[in-house]
Amino acid sequence: MIIQLEKEISSDEKKDIIRKISDLKYKTTEVSTQKGDYLVGIGKKEFDIRDIGHMSGISDIHIVSDDYKLVSRKWKVNPTIIDLGDGVSIEEGGMALMAGPCSIEGEEQIEKTINHLKENNIKIMRGGVYKPRSSPYSFRGLGIDGLKVWYKAVKEAGIKIITEVMQVSQIEEMYEYVDIYQVGARNTQNFNLLDELGAVDKPVLIKRGISGTIDELLSSAEYVFSAGNENLMLCERGIRTYERASRNTMDINAISILKEKTHLPVIADPSHGVGIRDHVEPVALACIMAGADGVIYETHEKPEEAYSDGQQTLDFRESQKLINKMRKVFELRENM
Ligand code: PEP
Ligand code: MN
Repeated sequence: MIIQLEKEISSDEKKDIIRKISDLKYKTTEVSTQKGDYLVGIGKKEFDIRDIGHMSGISDIHIVSDDYKLVSRKWKVNPTIIDLGDGVSIEEGGMALMAGPCSIEGEEQIEKTINHLKENNIKIMRGGVYKPRSSPYSFRGLGIDGLKVWYKAVKEAGIKIITEVMQVSQIEEMYEYVDIYQVGARNTQNFNLLDELGAVDKPVLIKRGISGTIDELLSSAEYVFSAGNENLMLCERGIRTYERASRNTMDINAISILKEKTHLPVIADPSHGVGIRDHVEPVALACIMAGADGVIYETHEKPEEAYSDGQQTLDFRESQKLINKMRKVFELRENM
């Protein structure tokens, strides 16, 4: 059960509610986010919601049978809107586009990418400065210094930054320079990282784990929400299956299913999802039709020279073509 508390609730009123819940043999967790205060009750016993709902200090009460609670769509009527400021938002029914290289490589690459994004009216730039790489000998990112150079360039251009945070110690040093923290597929179940991102007042995008289930992704989001941060979105980026013809198997089912299960925006990452340049476009378009609220993908002036993931990265001409097609498909979806 989720109990939404009134802002002015007294500590006695809260104690009474908690006592009432524990009488039902429910375990209670108090959750305070930047947006509201909740009591989350976990238990099995059936009860009459009115027995609790009338108590003072409660603004609403909901029964949520899912394992995850606060990220479930079952209690929240209005879907979550991520407001990035300057008129940029990510929300249900929209189509937020986030594009950029796999890795941030240097000033010239940043400038060229920004120009490409500006020409196509894209407001969010992706790029990694901390790169999780399968081999320790691969390029592992420019780190915080690269982020600072990138930040300076995008700020002048009015573009927002989404970039991956790999460990707790990076959260604070990155804070000033990021608009969205990305939790990568290798960190989806790094619960310490998720807990700490709950204390941050900036949006978080959580990618699905490489072999993670949809419910595990939702539970990861529950960590961040219950630790205080409601500004969350989820990202389907393909999962590992027996199929070897593509890097990953883009689980388009997950987009539709996540849209049903959660009030959080759902983003598709076709670049990692299929992992092959020529297939990024059709997969991206399919994800939009499946209901994605946004698409994040990799683009680079010269993909063959990219420091990472060149094989799945679109050049600017391909990227422009994709943008035009995505906008057409989005329009079609809106008018269906
Ligand atoms: C990335 O976005 O470049 C990345 C490493 O993604 P993922 O965590 O999905 O592999
Ligand atoms: Mn990549």
